[in-house]
Amino acid sequence: MKIVKTIDEVRSIVKGWRAEGLTVGLVPTMGYLHEGHASLIDASHRDNDRTVVSDFVNPMQFGPTEDLASYPRDLKRDAALAEAHGADIIFNPEPSEMYHEGFSSFVDMTVLTQELCGLSRPVHFRGVCTVVSKLFNIVKPDRAYFGKKDAQQLAVIRHMADDLNMDLEIIGCPIIREEDGLAKSSRNTYLSDEERKAALILSKSIFAGMDMVKHGCTTAAEITGAMKKLIDSEPLAKIDYVKLVDVATMQQIEKLDRPALCAIAVYIGKTRLIDNFFTEDVK
Ligand code: AMP
Repeated sequence: MKIVKTIDEVRSIVKGWRAEGLTVGLVPTMGYLHEGHASLIDASHRDNDRTVVSDFVNPMQFGPTEDLASYPRDLKRDAALAEAHGADIIFNPEPSEMYHEGFSSFVDMTVLTQELCGLSRPVHFRGVCTVVSKLFNIVKPDRAYFGKKDAQQLAVIRHMADDLNMDLEIIGCPIIREEDGLAKSSRNTYLSDEERKAALILSKSIFAGMDMVKHGCTTAAEITGAMKKLIDSEPLAKIDYVKLVDVATMQQIEKLDRPALCAIAVYIGKTRLIDNFFTEDVK
């Protein structure tokens, strides 16, 4: 496996693969890889002849008060994990390689980004859409892999690819959790021991919400109310949002009369964590 730093080199390697008639999968990440990322690399390795993992902490998707500077980075460790799961290239550009001087073109989206994380992170999805479009143009993959952990991001990317006629398949992969239920995330490394214990309240409330749906509850306020009560019982937790939205529009709904996403964002101390479930996945 090769670590590649420039766009030209990625293009030239992918061109060689294409000349041999090989298919290509792309797994976009911000690095500090864990088993959640590994599951996407596994899926790409299974579906495609070659897999490119991008490893880039994208400055454009961070707000001015967010954790860009402190975001964890470890390229050596990432390379070992990606290789073990079948990646052929790690693309790890410097910000200046992705955003040259005078960079001034953006990909933005309206409706789907107005709820949930879009409310508390106003510049986030413009940064995500722009960088993912760039990665699609650089790698030109047959398929790209995204985790359901970032459910709104997955919906936004699907919508963008459809709106802009991007010629690839977007594959959504299940959330990978720690043994005790906490969704795996590079940001879990910010948590102290005490906060790590408190963070379990996210998955507990997600499982409680799933249980209510499973038992036939269709009133959004009842489900989110019970989940909020549970989260509020944890002194270190501060709710950003707990919402049920239509999966197609990401707009809030009152009744579970269509496929819905239940999404939460909660601060544990200074660390903002997210989790969710799709009602369609509740059996
Ligand atoms: P990130 O590096 O956090 O930007 O994530 C890169 C990709 O990995 C995104 O598509 C995420 O949704 C996905 N991902 C992150 N954590 C998990 C997880 N616990 N389970 C499944 N996918 C994940």
